[in-house]
Amino acid sequence: MKMLKPNKHYQNLKDSYLFYNIAQKTNAYQAAHPDQKMLRLGIGDVTLPLCDAVIQALHQAVDDQANKPTFHGYMPECGAPFFLEAVQQYYAKRQINLDTSEIFVSSGASDELGDILDLFAEENTALVIEPAYPAYVDANIMANHPLIHLNSSQENGFTPLPDDSLEADIIYLCSPNNPTGAVFSHEKLKAWVDYANQHHSLILFDAAYEAFIEEENVPHSIFEIEGSRTCAIEICSLSKTAGFTGTRCGYTIIPKELNFEGMNLNAMWVRNRTTKTNGISYILQRGAAAVFTEEGQRQIKANIETYKANARTLMAALDACGIWYCGGHNAPYIFMRCPNNMTSWECFDYLLEKAQIIGTPGAGFGQCGEGYFRLSTFGSPEDTREAAKRLMTLFKKD
Ligand code: PLP
Repeated sequence: MKMLKPNKHYQNLKDSYLFYNIAQKTNAYQAAHPDQKMLRLGIGDVTLPLCDAVIQALHQAVDDQANKPTFHGYMPECGAPFFLEAVQQYYAKRQINLDTSEIFVSSGASDELGDILDLFAEENTALVIEPAYPAYVDANIMANHPLIHLNSSQENGFTPLPDDSLEADIIYLCSPNNPTGAVFSHEKLKAWVDYANQHHSLILFDAAYEAFIEEENVPHSIFEIEGSRTCAIEICSLSKTAGFTGTRCGYTIIPKELNFEGMNLNAMWVRNRTTKTNGISYILQRGAAAVFTEEGQRQIKANIETYKANARTLMAALDACGIWYCGGHNAPYIFMRCPNNMTSWECFDYLLEKAQIIGTPGAGFGQCGEGYFRLSTFGSPEDTREAAKRLMTLFKKD
């Protein structure tokens, strides 16, 4: 009998027990110690609400939809002109000139990171630098792209360089990085751009955390790098920049110069979006465009500053304890070396038992994350200060 055939590649996905295990252990501990206050530094989600400029724009847009003269039906699939122009001007401030037809609105980076694989034939290899955001690996398993796992390490600052032995067609670069908080320098990004141009491969640059960069000379966009327009797509999101994790909006940049075997990736993505989406809601795009106004920028920076103060609190504690870490300055994550040679799960259990601090074991982001532990700076300032105090009590040597 003829029967529907499912995508068998889903069988190759490893069950992700990471956040399930964390929740199980945390809940069990809390049940056994109901009076103890848990300090949750495992979260990758924002905790501060949308800023006032966004809220006002959203309210106004709801009213627009209530009146015939201002009502909007279907929006242009690739983005409303007012949103695309707002993103265009944001890039222009960094001397990156984009045509609005190179900018695409999206409902977030995760959606795009998976959907964009529609553009590439199955035989393309996908290179993922580990430790990595787990969705890169899983999306490529679902699409049956052979994976190349490139380990990064403390020695190369978690920002490895390409070498010619790699046969990578699709290259994931995430800077600032989740989970390590590391950032790629201009020189290192240039090396990847040169590799991609020489090997006719494509960089998928995940800029989800660009708004957290505080050091002057760190690139916010792959398009700050010479030669990138012929080899890179940038995927960005307002999730962490402006608290849109539950609201959903982002943007993707696909330059017109991306031609492979006579096919143009920008034109293909237009075809994809006009077929597979009917655009992003007018209301959301109005709210998202407000992020790029002067007022919006000032307000989101104030929120980001709260997370950065958390980062400084944790970094000061780790410095006082002599614990090595990466990140914290240009990213909302701190990737610390587990003290006393603990494995990352031993460190999880130890911090849970001794200090009621919940973080994320580095091994959950790939094998080379073993021996490290991710602390998020998205928690409340009170919890973060308390966690820093408890870390010092546990690990500060006199
Ligand atoms: N890329 C990275 C590196 C992330 O850490 C995340 C979310 O945590 C995303 C993308 C997804 O963001 P979005 O909420 O836009 O889907």
